[in-house]
Amino acid sequence: MTTYITEDKPFKLPAATIAGHAKHNDPSATSTPIHNASTGAIIGWQEHATAEQIDAAVRAAHTALPTWRTTTPSTRAKLLKKIAELIEADRERLSATQMQVSGKPPFEANLDVSDAAATFDYYAGLCADTTTFAPEQLKLPDDTVTGERYYEAVGVAALIVPWNFPMVTTAWKIAPALAAGCTIVLKPSEFTSPIEHMLAEIIAEAGVPDGVVNLVNGGGAVGAQLTAHPLIDKISFTGSTASGKKVMQAAAQDMKRVTLELGGKSALIVRADADIERAVSLAVGGAFTNAGQMCSATARILVHDDVYRKFMAAFETAVRAIVVAPPAGDDVAMGPLVSAAQRERVQALLAQGVETGASVAFCGQLDTACAQGFFMAPVVVAEPAVDNVLWTEEVFGPVACVKSFRTDEEAITLANDTRYGLVATVVTADPDAARHYKTQLRAGLVWINTPQLIFPQVCWGGLGLSGIGRELGLAGLRSYQELRHALTDAN
Ligand code: NAD
Repeated sequence: MTTYITEDKPFKLPAATIAGHAKHNDPSATSTPIHNASTGAIIGWQEHATAEQIDAAVRAAHTALPTWRTTTPSTRAKLLKKIAELIEADRERLSATQMQVSGKPPFEANLDVSDAAATFDYYAGLCADTTTFAPEQLKLPDDTVTGERYYEAVGVAALIVPWNFPMVTTAWKIAPALAAGCTIVLKPSEFTSPIEHMLAEIIAEAGVPDGVVNLVNGGGAVGAQLTAHPLIDKISFTGSTASGKKVMQAAAQDMKRVTLELGGKSALIVRADADIERAVSLAVGGAFTNAGQMCSATARILVHDDVYRKFMAAFETAVRAIVVAPPAGDDVAMGPLVSAAQRERVQALLAQGVETGASVAFCGQLDTACAQGFFMAPVVVAEPAVDNVLWTEEVFGPVACVKSFRTDEEAITLANDTRYGLVATVVTADPDAARHYKTQLRAGLVWINTPQLIFPQVCWGGLGLSGIGRELGLAGLRSYQELRHALTDAN
């Protein structure tokens, strides 16, 4: 297996992997650097796929489709299981790459590997379950006909992923797409592509036939060409809402099927009866995991007036204690942002928020080892106005806002005052109140007194500007299938 990242010399990722072959470009063609986020150093380069390579990748997937979609679910189950095992076996190298490219702390990098393996394992299980693909007989009001409902692979899927959980969001797409019998062209983020190249190699090593999973490198322009290709049947996109709108417009041309996992601006609500220690722990995790670069960041923290001062004092102690450093030791809790540009973007939003009236309550601190990389200390803003940019816009960095409330209805109104609707967290000791919040909060997933747990069995996806469709679970598999029916004369 190729080891893209080595300590001694910069690597060069091929522009594309098409039907099992790495495609390199002319040395003068576009290539962009991959950085070590903790040091800022260039550790490698990636070539960008040309229009011809994108077309060839889609055609390779199209050619592989008739054979792949007719493999038995049990064959696909074995391959998916093998991929899960190979990911586990390669845990150390995959984690090390995540830590190097994204700067993720060791426990987060490890969690990503576990999540990716668990996703392949889960879809292996769904494929092995004979009921998943069995046609369903319908009960009809007319006994002269019989009716059947069945599912069929949608076709060639373009999978486009962002940089914040590269291996994870990719597994959430590849595993159900392969399980359904789709063939694939994957476009990783231009910032974190080495991990996807590794995953593609693992998939090939597991025995998935050439042409079933193809990969093209590049940025938005490559993504746009892929989404416009007429032989693409389905687009599954994870990224910003702005890019998601362009993807949806491109899909409209050929009526391609779309799943869109987009941005968020989610709330964490601390009721007066909450266990404050737990609330603080959930607030730290919800706002600062992955340096706040999470679609599910619960960075709008709503705290009941009665416990506001107590919460803020404990939150300040916890935030000041967050060890922000390169991913060297187990005590590191927060790494850098993914790039210099992302840090500039976050800092500019923070400055804009402060200039228009928001006030910083307290900040965390940076380790001395953070001088070179794309680090930023965690920041907590208190009582921003409801039209302040820090309260309304997805920051996608380590900035949390805290606001007080007096009644449940006020908290729900504040939490729902956004066009996004991805997730929410509620911290309360009252089961009736929990039930009320669960039904009233506009979010695809509500966590009650738990950290941001994610299981492959539980669907992921949001309302409103957070996207369309669901990933994971049985719905995640069905999103790569067409629902069909047949009616047959019974006589
Ligand atoms: P982005 O939209 O800039 O890019 C995402 C991917 O789309 C990249 O691979 C990019 O190259 C590609 N792309 C960009 N423009 C495109 C176009 N016009 N057509 C096709 N592809 C295009 O997002 P990002 O900065 O990489 O990621 C951060 C965003 O992703 C945040 O808004 C975050 O909330 C969102 N996100 C959502 C989820 C979710 O599950 N809802 C998960 C992770 C990230």
